[in-house]
Amino acid sequence: MHLRTLTLRGFKSFASATTLHLEPGITCVVGPNGSGKSNVVDALAWVMGEQGAKSLRGGTMEDVIFAGTAGRPPLGRAEVALTIDNTDGVLPIEYSEVTISRTLFRSGGSEYAINGTPCRLLDIQELLSDTGMGREMHVIVGQGQLDAVLRATPEDRRGFIEEAAGILKHRRRKEKALRKLEAMQVNLTRLSDLTAEIR
Ligand code: ATP
Repeated sequence: MHLRTLTLRGFKSFASATTLHLEPGITCVVGPNGSGKSNVVDALAWVMGEQGAKSLRGGTMEDVIFAGTAGRPPLGRAEVALTIDNTDGVLPIEYSEVTISRTLFRSGGSEYAINGTPCRLLDIQELLSDTGMGREMHVIVGQGQLDAVLRATPEDRRGFIEEAAGILKHRRRKEKALRKLEAMQVNLTRLSDLTAEIR
């Protein structure tokens, strides 16, 4: 599995549609300060489901939409599409090429899609979770983040490893199932109280 293309349209400084073609192996993005290198990494995190505006170096999520320049008016939406080569079948989906996309409208709405079919954020998170490209985004290591990992408590550090190994998804499912079981137990107790009263 490797990333094939990343297309940005109206995302941060990328007003016009821009496609980066990525080859297997190492890709370096070079450019002067402020030319948009980190915006490319932000786009990658964003399309994979990042929800924190701060992680994307903004104040609110709307800050990812092209805000305009002296010569160009602001845009009403930001779109990012990431195409992944899945010929080795790492992604649990019957396609050899998978495109995930995310759109945010200035009016507030947002859309997610997998191969052009609208889906929920959860579907994208689930699709990526077994690859280690999960919700917590440990595949993207930002400046200063290594320090944070080294200083983390053993519990937090285990969380990083579990997320990368795809275990966290099952832990969340287990917690959800346990909450349901607990609620069921309360209902059962109420039921047996009522039965006892009727008798
Ligand atoms: P450095 O090498 O200094 O880290 P960089 O190449 O990583 O720089 P970025 O941080 O990716 O640069 O890009 C910063 C530029 O993106 C700034 O000029 C900023 O004005 C522009 N920018 C960020 N958000 C938006 C937006 N919503 N609309 C328009 N431009 C934006």
